Amino acid sequence: MKKRFYSHSKLSTFEQCPLKFKYRYIDKIIPEIKKTIEAHLGTCVHSALEWIYTKVKKNHIPSLDEIIVYFSKKWQETYTPDIVIIKEDLTQKDYFNNGINFLVTYYQNHYPFDDNTIDVEKKIKIKLDSNGEYNIIGFIDRLVQNLEKNEFEIHDYKTANSLPTQEKIDNDRQLALYSIAIKEIYGENKEIKLIWHYLAHNKKIISKRTNEQLKNLKKQTLELIKKIESTKKFPPKKSILCKWCEYKNICPLFNKKTKEENSVKISGEIKEKYPTTSKYIKDD
Ligand code: SF4
Repeated sequence: MKKRFYSHSKLSTFEQCPLKFKYRYIDKIIPEIKKTIEAHLGTCVHSALEWIYTKVKKNHIPSLDEIIVYFSKKWQETYTPDIVIIKEDLTQKDYFNNGINFLVTYYQNHYPFDDNTIDVEKKIKIKLDSNGEYNIIGFIDRLVQNLEKNEFEIHDYKTANSLPTQEKIDNDRQLALYSIAIKEIYGENKEIKLIWHYLAHNKKIISKRTNEQLKNLKKQTLELIKKIESTKKFPPKKSILCKWCEYKNICPLFNKKTKEENSVKISGEIKEKYPTTSKYIKDD
């Protein structure tokens, strides 16, 4: 039996655009656009927040200055010239300053970071079926054991500008799946709070799931994976997210001209001499 591992982002990519899913996970095409500045900002902010709690666990509460130095170093060390800035009115400096602002505000709201964080970047694995053929893997940004309330908290940081509605959050799949893993470790009847930190809005959104909802979620996720595995056609699906798609330059929805240019005209003489070329050439 071949074990299958899916991440939330793999499932979301299929839902967002089946063609993007095919390019990334089936054809494994290495995109020309390696990384967007939004992804770079997200990685550096996540890394700084992870670093704070790792230090706190070792009994050192970093100063705001230390955090800014850590973030700035991380930004510089991992910044490469091929990072793409899609929004023309913004510069690298704007994104860097956003990162600093997120961290300063987070620091002011959460100092001295004493909420009993028990893990950061915690790897989780969930079996979706009884024989463990289909699995979900992922990482929890931060896990808190709230001893006072006898509950766990799964924290997730978001650096994007968009702010979802409570309804959307109440139907979010990612943290709900992660809570299944935590219940498997600490007990099915443990209360688990799902907490999203929308750093650009200085806003925390909280949600919870019942055991019944989690059971249904497992079932729906397994159905989605089976649908993906039986899919034969992967059409493009246009959305606002196309702007940031790393495959936009090869996507047929945005690349009509290039497709025509790629379709070479060759004379009848060559077609006769090399019949297999007919597959690649355009009829006159
Ligand atoms: S550009 Fe849009 S439609 Fe094309 S592959 Fe990417 S997400 Fe899909």
